[in-house]
Amino acid sequence: MESKKFLLQEKDIPTAWYNIVADMKNKPLPPLNPGTKQPLNPEDLYPILAEKLVQQEANMTDPWIEIPEEVRDLYKQWRPTPLVRATALEKALDTPAHIYFKNESVSPVGSHKLNSALAQAYYCKAEGLTNITTETGAGQWGAAMAYAARAFGLELAVYMVKISYEQKPYRRSIMQTFGAQVIPSPSMSTKAGRQILTENPTYMGSLGTAISEAVELALQTPNCKYVLGSVLNHVMLHQTVIGLEAEKQMEMAGEYPDIIIACFGGGSNFSGISFPFLRHNFLDGKQTRVIAAEPSSCPKLTRGVFQYDFGDEAGYTPFIPMYTLGHTFAPPHIHAGGLRYHGAGAIVSQLKKDSLIEAVDIEQSDAFKAAVLFAKTEGIIPAPESSHAIAAAVREAEQAKIEGKQKTILFNLSGHGLIDMAAYDSYLAGDLSNYDMSDADLARSMDPLEKII
Ligand SMILES: *Cc1c(COP(=O)(O)O)cnc(C)c1O
Repeated sequence: MESKKFLLQEKDIPTAWYNIVADMKNKPLPPLNPGTKQPLNPEDLYPILAEKLVQQEANMTDPWIEIPEEVRDLYKQWRPTPLVRATALEKALDTPAHIYFKNESVSPVGSHKLNSALAQAYYCKAEGLTNITTETGAGQWGAAMAYAARAFGLELAVYMVKISYEQKPYRRSIMQTFGAQVIPSPSMSTKAGRQILTENPTYMGSLGTAISEAVELALQTPNCKYVLGSVLNHVMLHQTVIGLEAEKQMEMAGEYPDIIIACFGGGSNFSGISFPFLRHNFLDGKQTRVIAAEPSSCPKLTRGVFQYDFGDEAGYTPFIPMYTLGHTFAPPHIHAGGLRYHGAGAIVSQLKKDSLIEAVDIEQSDAFKAAVLFAKTEGIIPAPESSHAIAAAVREAEQAKIEGKQKTILFNLSGHGLIDMAAYDSYLAGDLSNYDMSDADLARSMDPLEKII
């Protein structure tokens, strides 16, 4: 059989991350201090985030930022990741399209999240911190951060959205195996958690609430800062190793993508695979279409509004310029827990506003249908999150067939679904529902936004 796997060597792991902001004509708007509504000084964030990460967050001039040797060494445990041509999937779809996927599921924790977790743990350690806090939804970020904290000898406390804590006990066990403390959120351990629990004792949590709790604990603990797994500019930056490798691998395959697709939670794996290619759209006149695939039940890019909003539910974070559904938006409990976030990061939001990227929404049932087809053809059970990207890729491949055009599609397989088999069980049993947001639902969560600005 013809080889369809494109492998790089350790020496090909990128030595620098790509900072797309340096090449953007319209830079993302600055975060605002919610009190004064004035642009934040980067230093204002030093109490919460590691200083080096804040500097990366605010960097609008350097297109390349060197990857520390220690981080690169740890990347070698599983990077470079394979690029695979999905010929069996192509055949099943009977499409003229060529479909490639970048397989980020091969990391020790099974997702792309470790690319940024290791970088963030490194900078926290280098600054002399001993403790860090974070939040996790479905548990992938928590698992990645738990391993990264261990690798650099940091103590980690993770606030895990309560519904996932109860429904996805294995991710909790993974974090605990790496030595992290895991607390279901909302909890009584913080003011933010107590307030929510006293108003609504049965609340099963959201990422926004968990962020509030993790930030509060970091602010109250000496030698402790907070780390975040998506949304912020520096997280997008670290994830660009995905696209930088894919660029070389597409060259090995002798093709260049017409379409790049990734699923979308806060934007980190989407940014990771697409920014290095967008660079060629900006600088070399390439015209690759870049598509974010989000769940119909949490449609911030396709149905949200672009404006300043809090990154968390309680309102501890700065105002971030984002496509948002409102920071009080409580997304339905779809199985793709990693996509249940109310907003999109500032860089991606600006790119969307300037029509430099596209977005589509995918029903939960379409995502699982595509996931099962992918599993049967390519032999990998995808994460429910990644399945949204697969469904969007299938749609484009079907469109190529209708148009009778050969198109080259590249999507990011952000993670595997081996710890999400309960979700597959309910799909296979026919128990999955779709959740479409009505305009009235959307208007309700947008309402507090009007009061903010
Ligand atoms: C967290 C996660 C996502 C969504 O987060 P992004 O920051 O939008 O990438 C997608 N896929 C997997 C496997 C995840 O763990």
